[in-house]
Parts: sequence; C-alpha cells; structure tokens
Amino acid sequence: MRPESVSRRFFMPIPPFKRTIMDITLNKPFAANMAVDEFDVRRMKKALNRLGYYSPYEKTGITGIPDKDVFTALKAFQKDQGLQPTGTARPGDETVSKLSSEAGKKKSGKYIWRTVGDGKVRDSHAKLSGTLRDLANSPDPGEEFNCRCWADFKGLKLDVLKTDCDEEREKYEELQHQVRELTERFNSLLLYLQKLVDEGKGLVLSAQKSLGVQTVSYILTLPFERLDVLSELLRRYFGNIISNESLKAAEHFMKQFWAVKQKAQHVKDQRDIVLAQLEQTAKKLEETKKRLEECEKSKK
Ligand SMILES: [Zn+2]
Repeated sequence: MRPESVSRRFFMPIPPFKRTIMDITLNKPFAANMAVDEFDVRRMKKALNRLGYYSPYEKTGITGIPDKDVFTALKAFQKDQGLQPTGTARPGDETVSKLSSEAGKKKSGKYIWRTVGDGKVRDSHAKLSGTLRDLANSPDPGEEFNCRCWADFKGLKLDVLKTDCDEEREKYEELQHQVRELTERFNSLLLYLQKLVDEGKGLVLSAQKSLGVQTVSYILTLPFERLDVLSELLRRYFGNIISNESLKAAEHFMKQFWAVKQKAQHVKDQRDIVLAQLEQTAKKLEETKKRLEECEKSKK
C-alpha cells in the first residue's frame, strides 16, 4: 500500500510530535478568520484530540484543513484551563504553552485507534484500526508524518457501557423468559393435580357404591389388595354381605384410585420443585432488574 500521502516526498517533514513531550509550536497565528498554517492545524488537532476535545470527520481523519470543530475544541480547552475562550492562539502564547504541557502530561489512558479506512492508510495503522490502545503505547495516532489517524475516547466509553448493559439486558430477558415458562409449568401442574384429585374422588365414590356403603373413609387407609379385609370388617360390624362381584368391582376402582394417587404424589413433588425453581428465578430476575436499571442510569 502507498504511504498516507505522496506529498512526503516533496516536503521536508516537520518533526512529528515526540511521544512523551508534546512540544507544540505554531508557525503562524491560529484563528478561524486567518490563513492558517497547514502544519499548525495538524498539530492543534493532534493535541486537542489527545486531550479529548477534538474528533475529526471520520471520512477525512486529521488533516491540515482548518475545520470549524478545531476552533470550537480550542475554545473548550481554553475555557477549561481558565483562559479567555477565544478559539484563537498565537505563536508562543499562553494557550500554546498550556496545550503543550497538558498534552505532554497525558501519558496514559485508553482509546480506540481510528483510521479513515481507505487504501492510503499505512498497513501498520490499518492493523491498529479499531483496537484498544493506551496513550503510553507508541506510535500515537497522528504521530507519524501525514498520519490522519486519531484517538477515539467517546467510542470507547459508549462501547464499554453498551456491552455492560446489553449483557444485563440479555440476562434479564432470559430470566423473564424462564419465569414465564416456570409459571406456565406450575399452573399446568396445578391443573393436572386438580384433575387427578377429582378423578381419585370419583374412583373412591365408585368403590363405595360397589360395596354399598356411604362412609368408608378407611377404605383409603387400606391397600387395594386388602379389600378382602375391608369386606370382612363390613360383614362383621355392619352385617353387610358383599358379593364377590361387588368386591371385584370395588377392588378394580381402588386399584385405579391408588394408581391415580401415586401419580398425584409424583405431580405434587414436581410442583414443589417447580415452585422452588420459580422462587429462585424470580429472585434472580429482581436482582438483574436492579443491575440493569443501575447500568442504564449510569449510561445517561
Ligand atoms: Zn495513520
């Protein structure tokens, strides 16, 4: 790939910014209404970018063209430094020396390396594009001759916060989904249990009818195999003579009843497990909701 500008062959390169000492000098007065020096513009942009005041138009990157933003950025810097916010500077004035010292002081901090993304970007810079860097690392964007690259601090902040909240939101939505599913499952188990209870009641009623007695609650305390014992009790204490046929019928109903009761017990166990899961998941959901709200608050 070609270097960032062919002009480097025809101009004496102005010494690039040194990494540790940002020595900013101006060749000419720097103001929006004046014919400014191209290299002054680059130097101002580079320093203001490093300090987080200036971000270039991403299609052009840092150029020697004096766009409106560089003067706005300078004004903001002057204001923060307690200087007259004129958006202008002169060689050797207080703004220039403050800019030098502040940019020189800023020796560390994370940023994302941005390039214009066209074919003229140096291969080595194209490789750095979009990567997380520290201001302590060499090279700096814009440091090498005619480099149009810049440091993106805003993108970094947004990216980090966005990722955090997204993670929380995904967790929150997943838990919401789980709570909905568990609630549905719990409700259907309750319905099923009610159905089994009704079915069991009906079977006991049928068994009672077959035996010709109304109050045989103790029928439930005996295993169905021992209905013969019940039959014997009924004969002894109530004088009920129960035909073998009736006994067989009652046995049949009670056999079904015990099967239903067993099923119901299994469903009850499942219901308890689902309820415990539901309570646990609802608690997690509540915690995640809080974290998500905090995250979104901090984003604003
Ligand atoms: Zn570059």
